[in-house]
Amino acid sequence: MSFRTLHDRGVIARYRAFLPVTETTPVVSLNEGSTPLIHSPKLSAKVGRNCQVFIKYEGLNPTGSFKDRGMTLAISKAVERGAQAVICASTGNTSAAAAAYAARASITCIVLLPAGKISFGKLAQAFVYGAKVVAIDGNFDDALRLVREIGETEPIAVVNSINPDRLQGQKTASFEIIEELGDAPDVHILPVGNAGNISAYWMGYEEFLGLGRSKKNPVMLGFQAAGSAPIFHKRIIEAPETVATAIRIGNPASWDKANEAIAKSGGAIDIVTDAEILAAQYWLASNEGIFVEPASAASIAGLLKSLDPASGRAYEANRFPEGSKIVCTVTGHGLKDPDVVKDLCGSVIPAKAERSEILRLIGQ
Ligand SMILES: *Cc1c(COP(=O)(O)O)cnc(C)c1O
Repeated sequence: MSFRTLHDRGVIARYRAFLPVTETTPVVSLNEGSTPLIHSPKLSAKVGRNCQVFIKYEGLNPTGSFKDRGMTLAISKAVERGAQAVICASTGNTSAAAAAYAARASITCIVLLPAGKISFGKLAQAFVYGAKVVAIDGNFDDALRLVREIGETEPIAVVNSINPDRLQGQKTASFEIIEELGDAPDVHILPVGNAGNISAYWMGYEEFLGLGRSKKNPVMLGFQAAGSAPIFHKRIIEAPETVATAIRIGNPASWDKANEAIAKSGGAIDIVTDAEILAAQYWLASNEGIFVEPASAASIAGLLKSLDPASGRAYEANRFPEGSKIVCTVTGHGLKDPDVVKDLCGSVIPAKAERSEILRLIGQ
């Protein structure tokens, strides 16, 4: 079987030797992973000093976010253990992934969402994949607490990132980056919500370094939304708020692991405002052709903030060494949440269905 064929069969097939699976584990996959690492000439030019910026576009996973990498493993292991049902708390993307992989495995999926705080695209996914959707009168942190409690007493597998199989699957993104660049990047920037992903990336980088598959670890820079920044402020945020609903989390499950990744890598946790997030989302789409959801744009907003001397940034761009390779993970697809950009869509140009009028209106 060719290397390319292996890639096309999902992260368990591609990285079986590094994951907690055996020959008898039933692999539930939608060919997730192997996402593009896209070079960004315009971001590279902004950073300067011969640095190269790459965008790991996780929105191209089967359900439109990186959550698929962890979910293939979590659902495969749950089925291996005999689970008939899985449950998760979600800001939207975990539920989309859990519902899709549960459908594939023919088991029941229950999702607990904060009522009214999920983008329509993500809600539609949970329904169309056939999940039971419960909208609670509370936030994500309340939903996760309830899911933990239900998982303790009921025969239902929890597939949130407190399930260690999730982080195992998600670490494969680091493996892909190392294989594509020939080594780990110098700096890795990503959005932080529940902090599972930054922990998983760090785990993947440490693992490949330990195996001699890379020669260094990157500096890890995590960005939280200013209104939902518990790790940055070092305290639980009771009522987190941000337009970036996927990182609207006040009490991250992997808080300690994220702090460890930051400390060991010499990195930082910083914040970006909703205005900076939306500006970065629009900038990335209109300059590089990559449309991501608001939470994902936090990594780009974070890189841009690191370059601005007036921003009060936690990590200074002048610490990016000459010739650095910088990877920004953009975690989910922009079409998940098109409502966020609907103001941009208001300026259509009305015209008669006539060639001459159209040419006049477009200035030709
Ligand atoms: C889940 C998610 C995040 C946050 O990841 P954590 O592991 O919770 O830190 C960021 N962006 C998107 C699009 C997500 O779905």
